Amino acid sequence: MKGKFQLYTGNGKGKTTAALGLAVRAACAGMKVYIGQFMKGRDYSELCLPEHFPGTITMEQYGTPRLICKGEKPSEEDLRSAAVGLDTIRTAMVSGNYDLVIADELNVTVHMGILNEEDVMEFICRRPDDVELVLTGRYAPAGFVEAADLVTEMREVKHYYAAENLPARKGIES
Ligand code: ATP
Ligand code: MG
Repeated sequence: MKGKFQLYTGNGKGKTTAALGLAVRAACAGMKVYIGQFMKGRDYSELCLPEHFPGTITMEQYGTPRLICKGEKPSEEDLRSAAVGLDTIRTAMVSGNYDLVIADELNVTVHMGILNEEDVMEFICRRPDDVELVLTGRYAPAGFVEAADLVTEMREVKHYYAAENLPARKGIES
């Protein structure tokens, strides 16, 4: 099957959730899925997906548990783990072992200056014809929007974060 390049961006909730939903749908259809999460070293509930879909969904995190703010200088470790992540996900994408490859928060990694836009563009251009590639994260660079076959922008109309000082809820946000 011919693959496409999909981009989920914008400031509203649902980008990572949509990508994970696609992973589950694809796995249920017998597709092999690789999920790489950038800038996420924490214990998100979805990390148990491979347990529920053994041999079908593979998932790895590249990053540190620390939150990085825009303008802050990324540490050597942040830079190194993102670079290793990009190499790892590129290898997975070109391996022939996966039908769907998801790079969660890769847009944000570029926005924060942790990865070069050019290096990520080179990764996007290496997508084999039969692989579906999904990038998520706010602040997608214009070049990625241009290159994508599908772009969905999650726009925040209303969010409880604005009204309540809620921590991320297990199973809903994390
Ligand atoms: P989800 O993972 O729920 O699908 P998303 O991928 O669209 O959301 P991101 O922009 O990646 O959302 O945000 C990642 C996480 O940051 C959110 O799940 C939430 O826990 C947290 N977050 C987002 N917006 C806010 C906010 N305004 N205040 C506090 N935390 C926030
Ligand atoms: Mg997200």
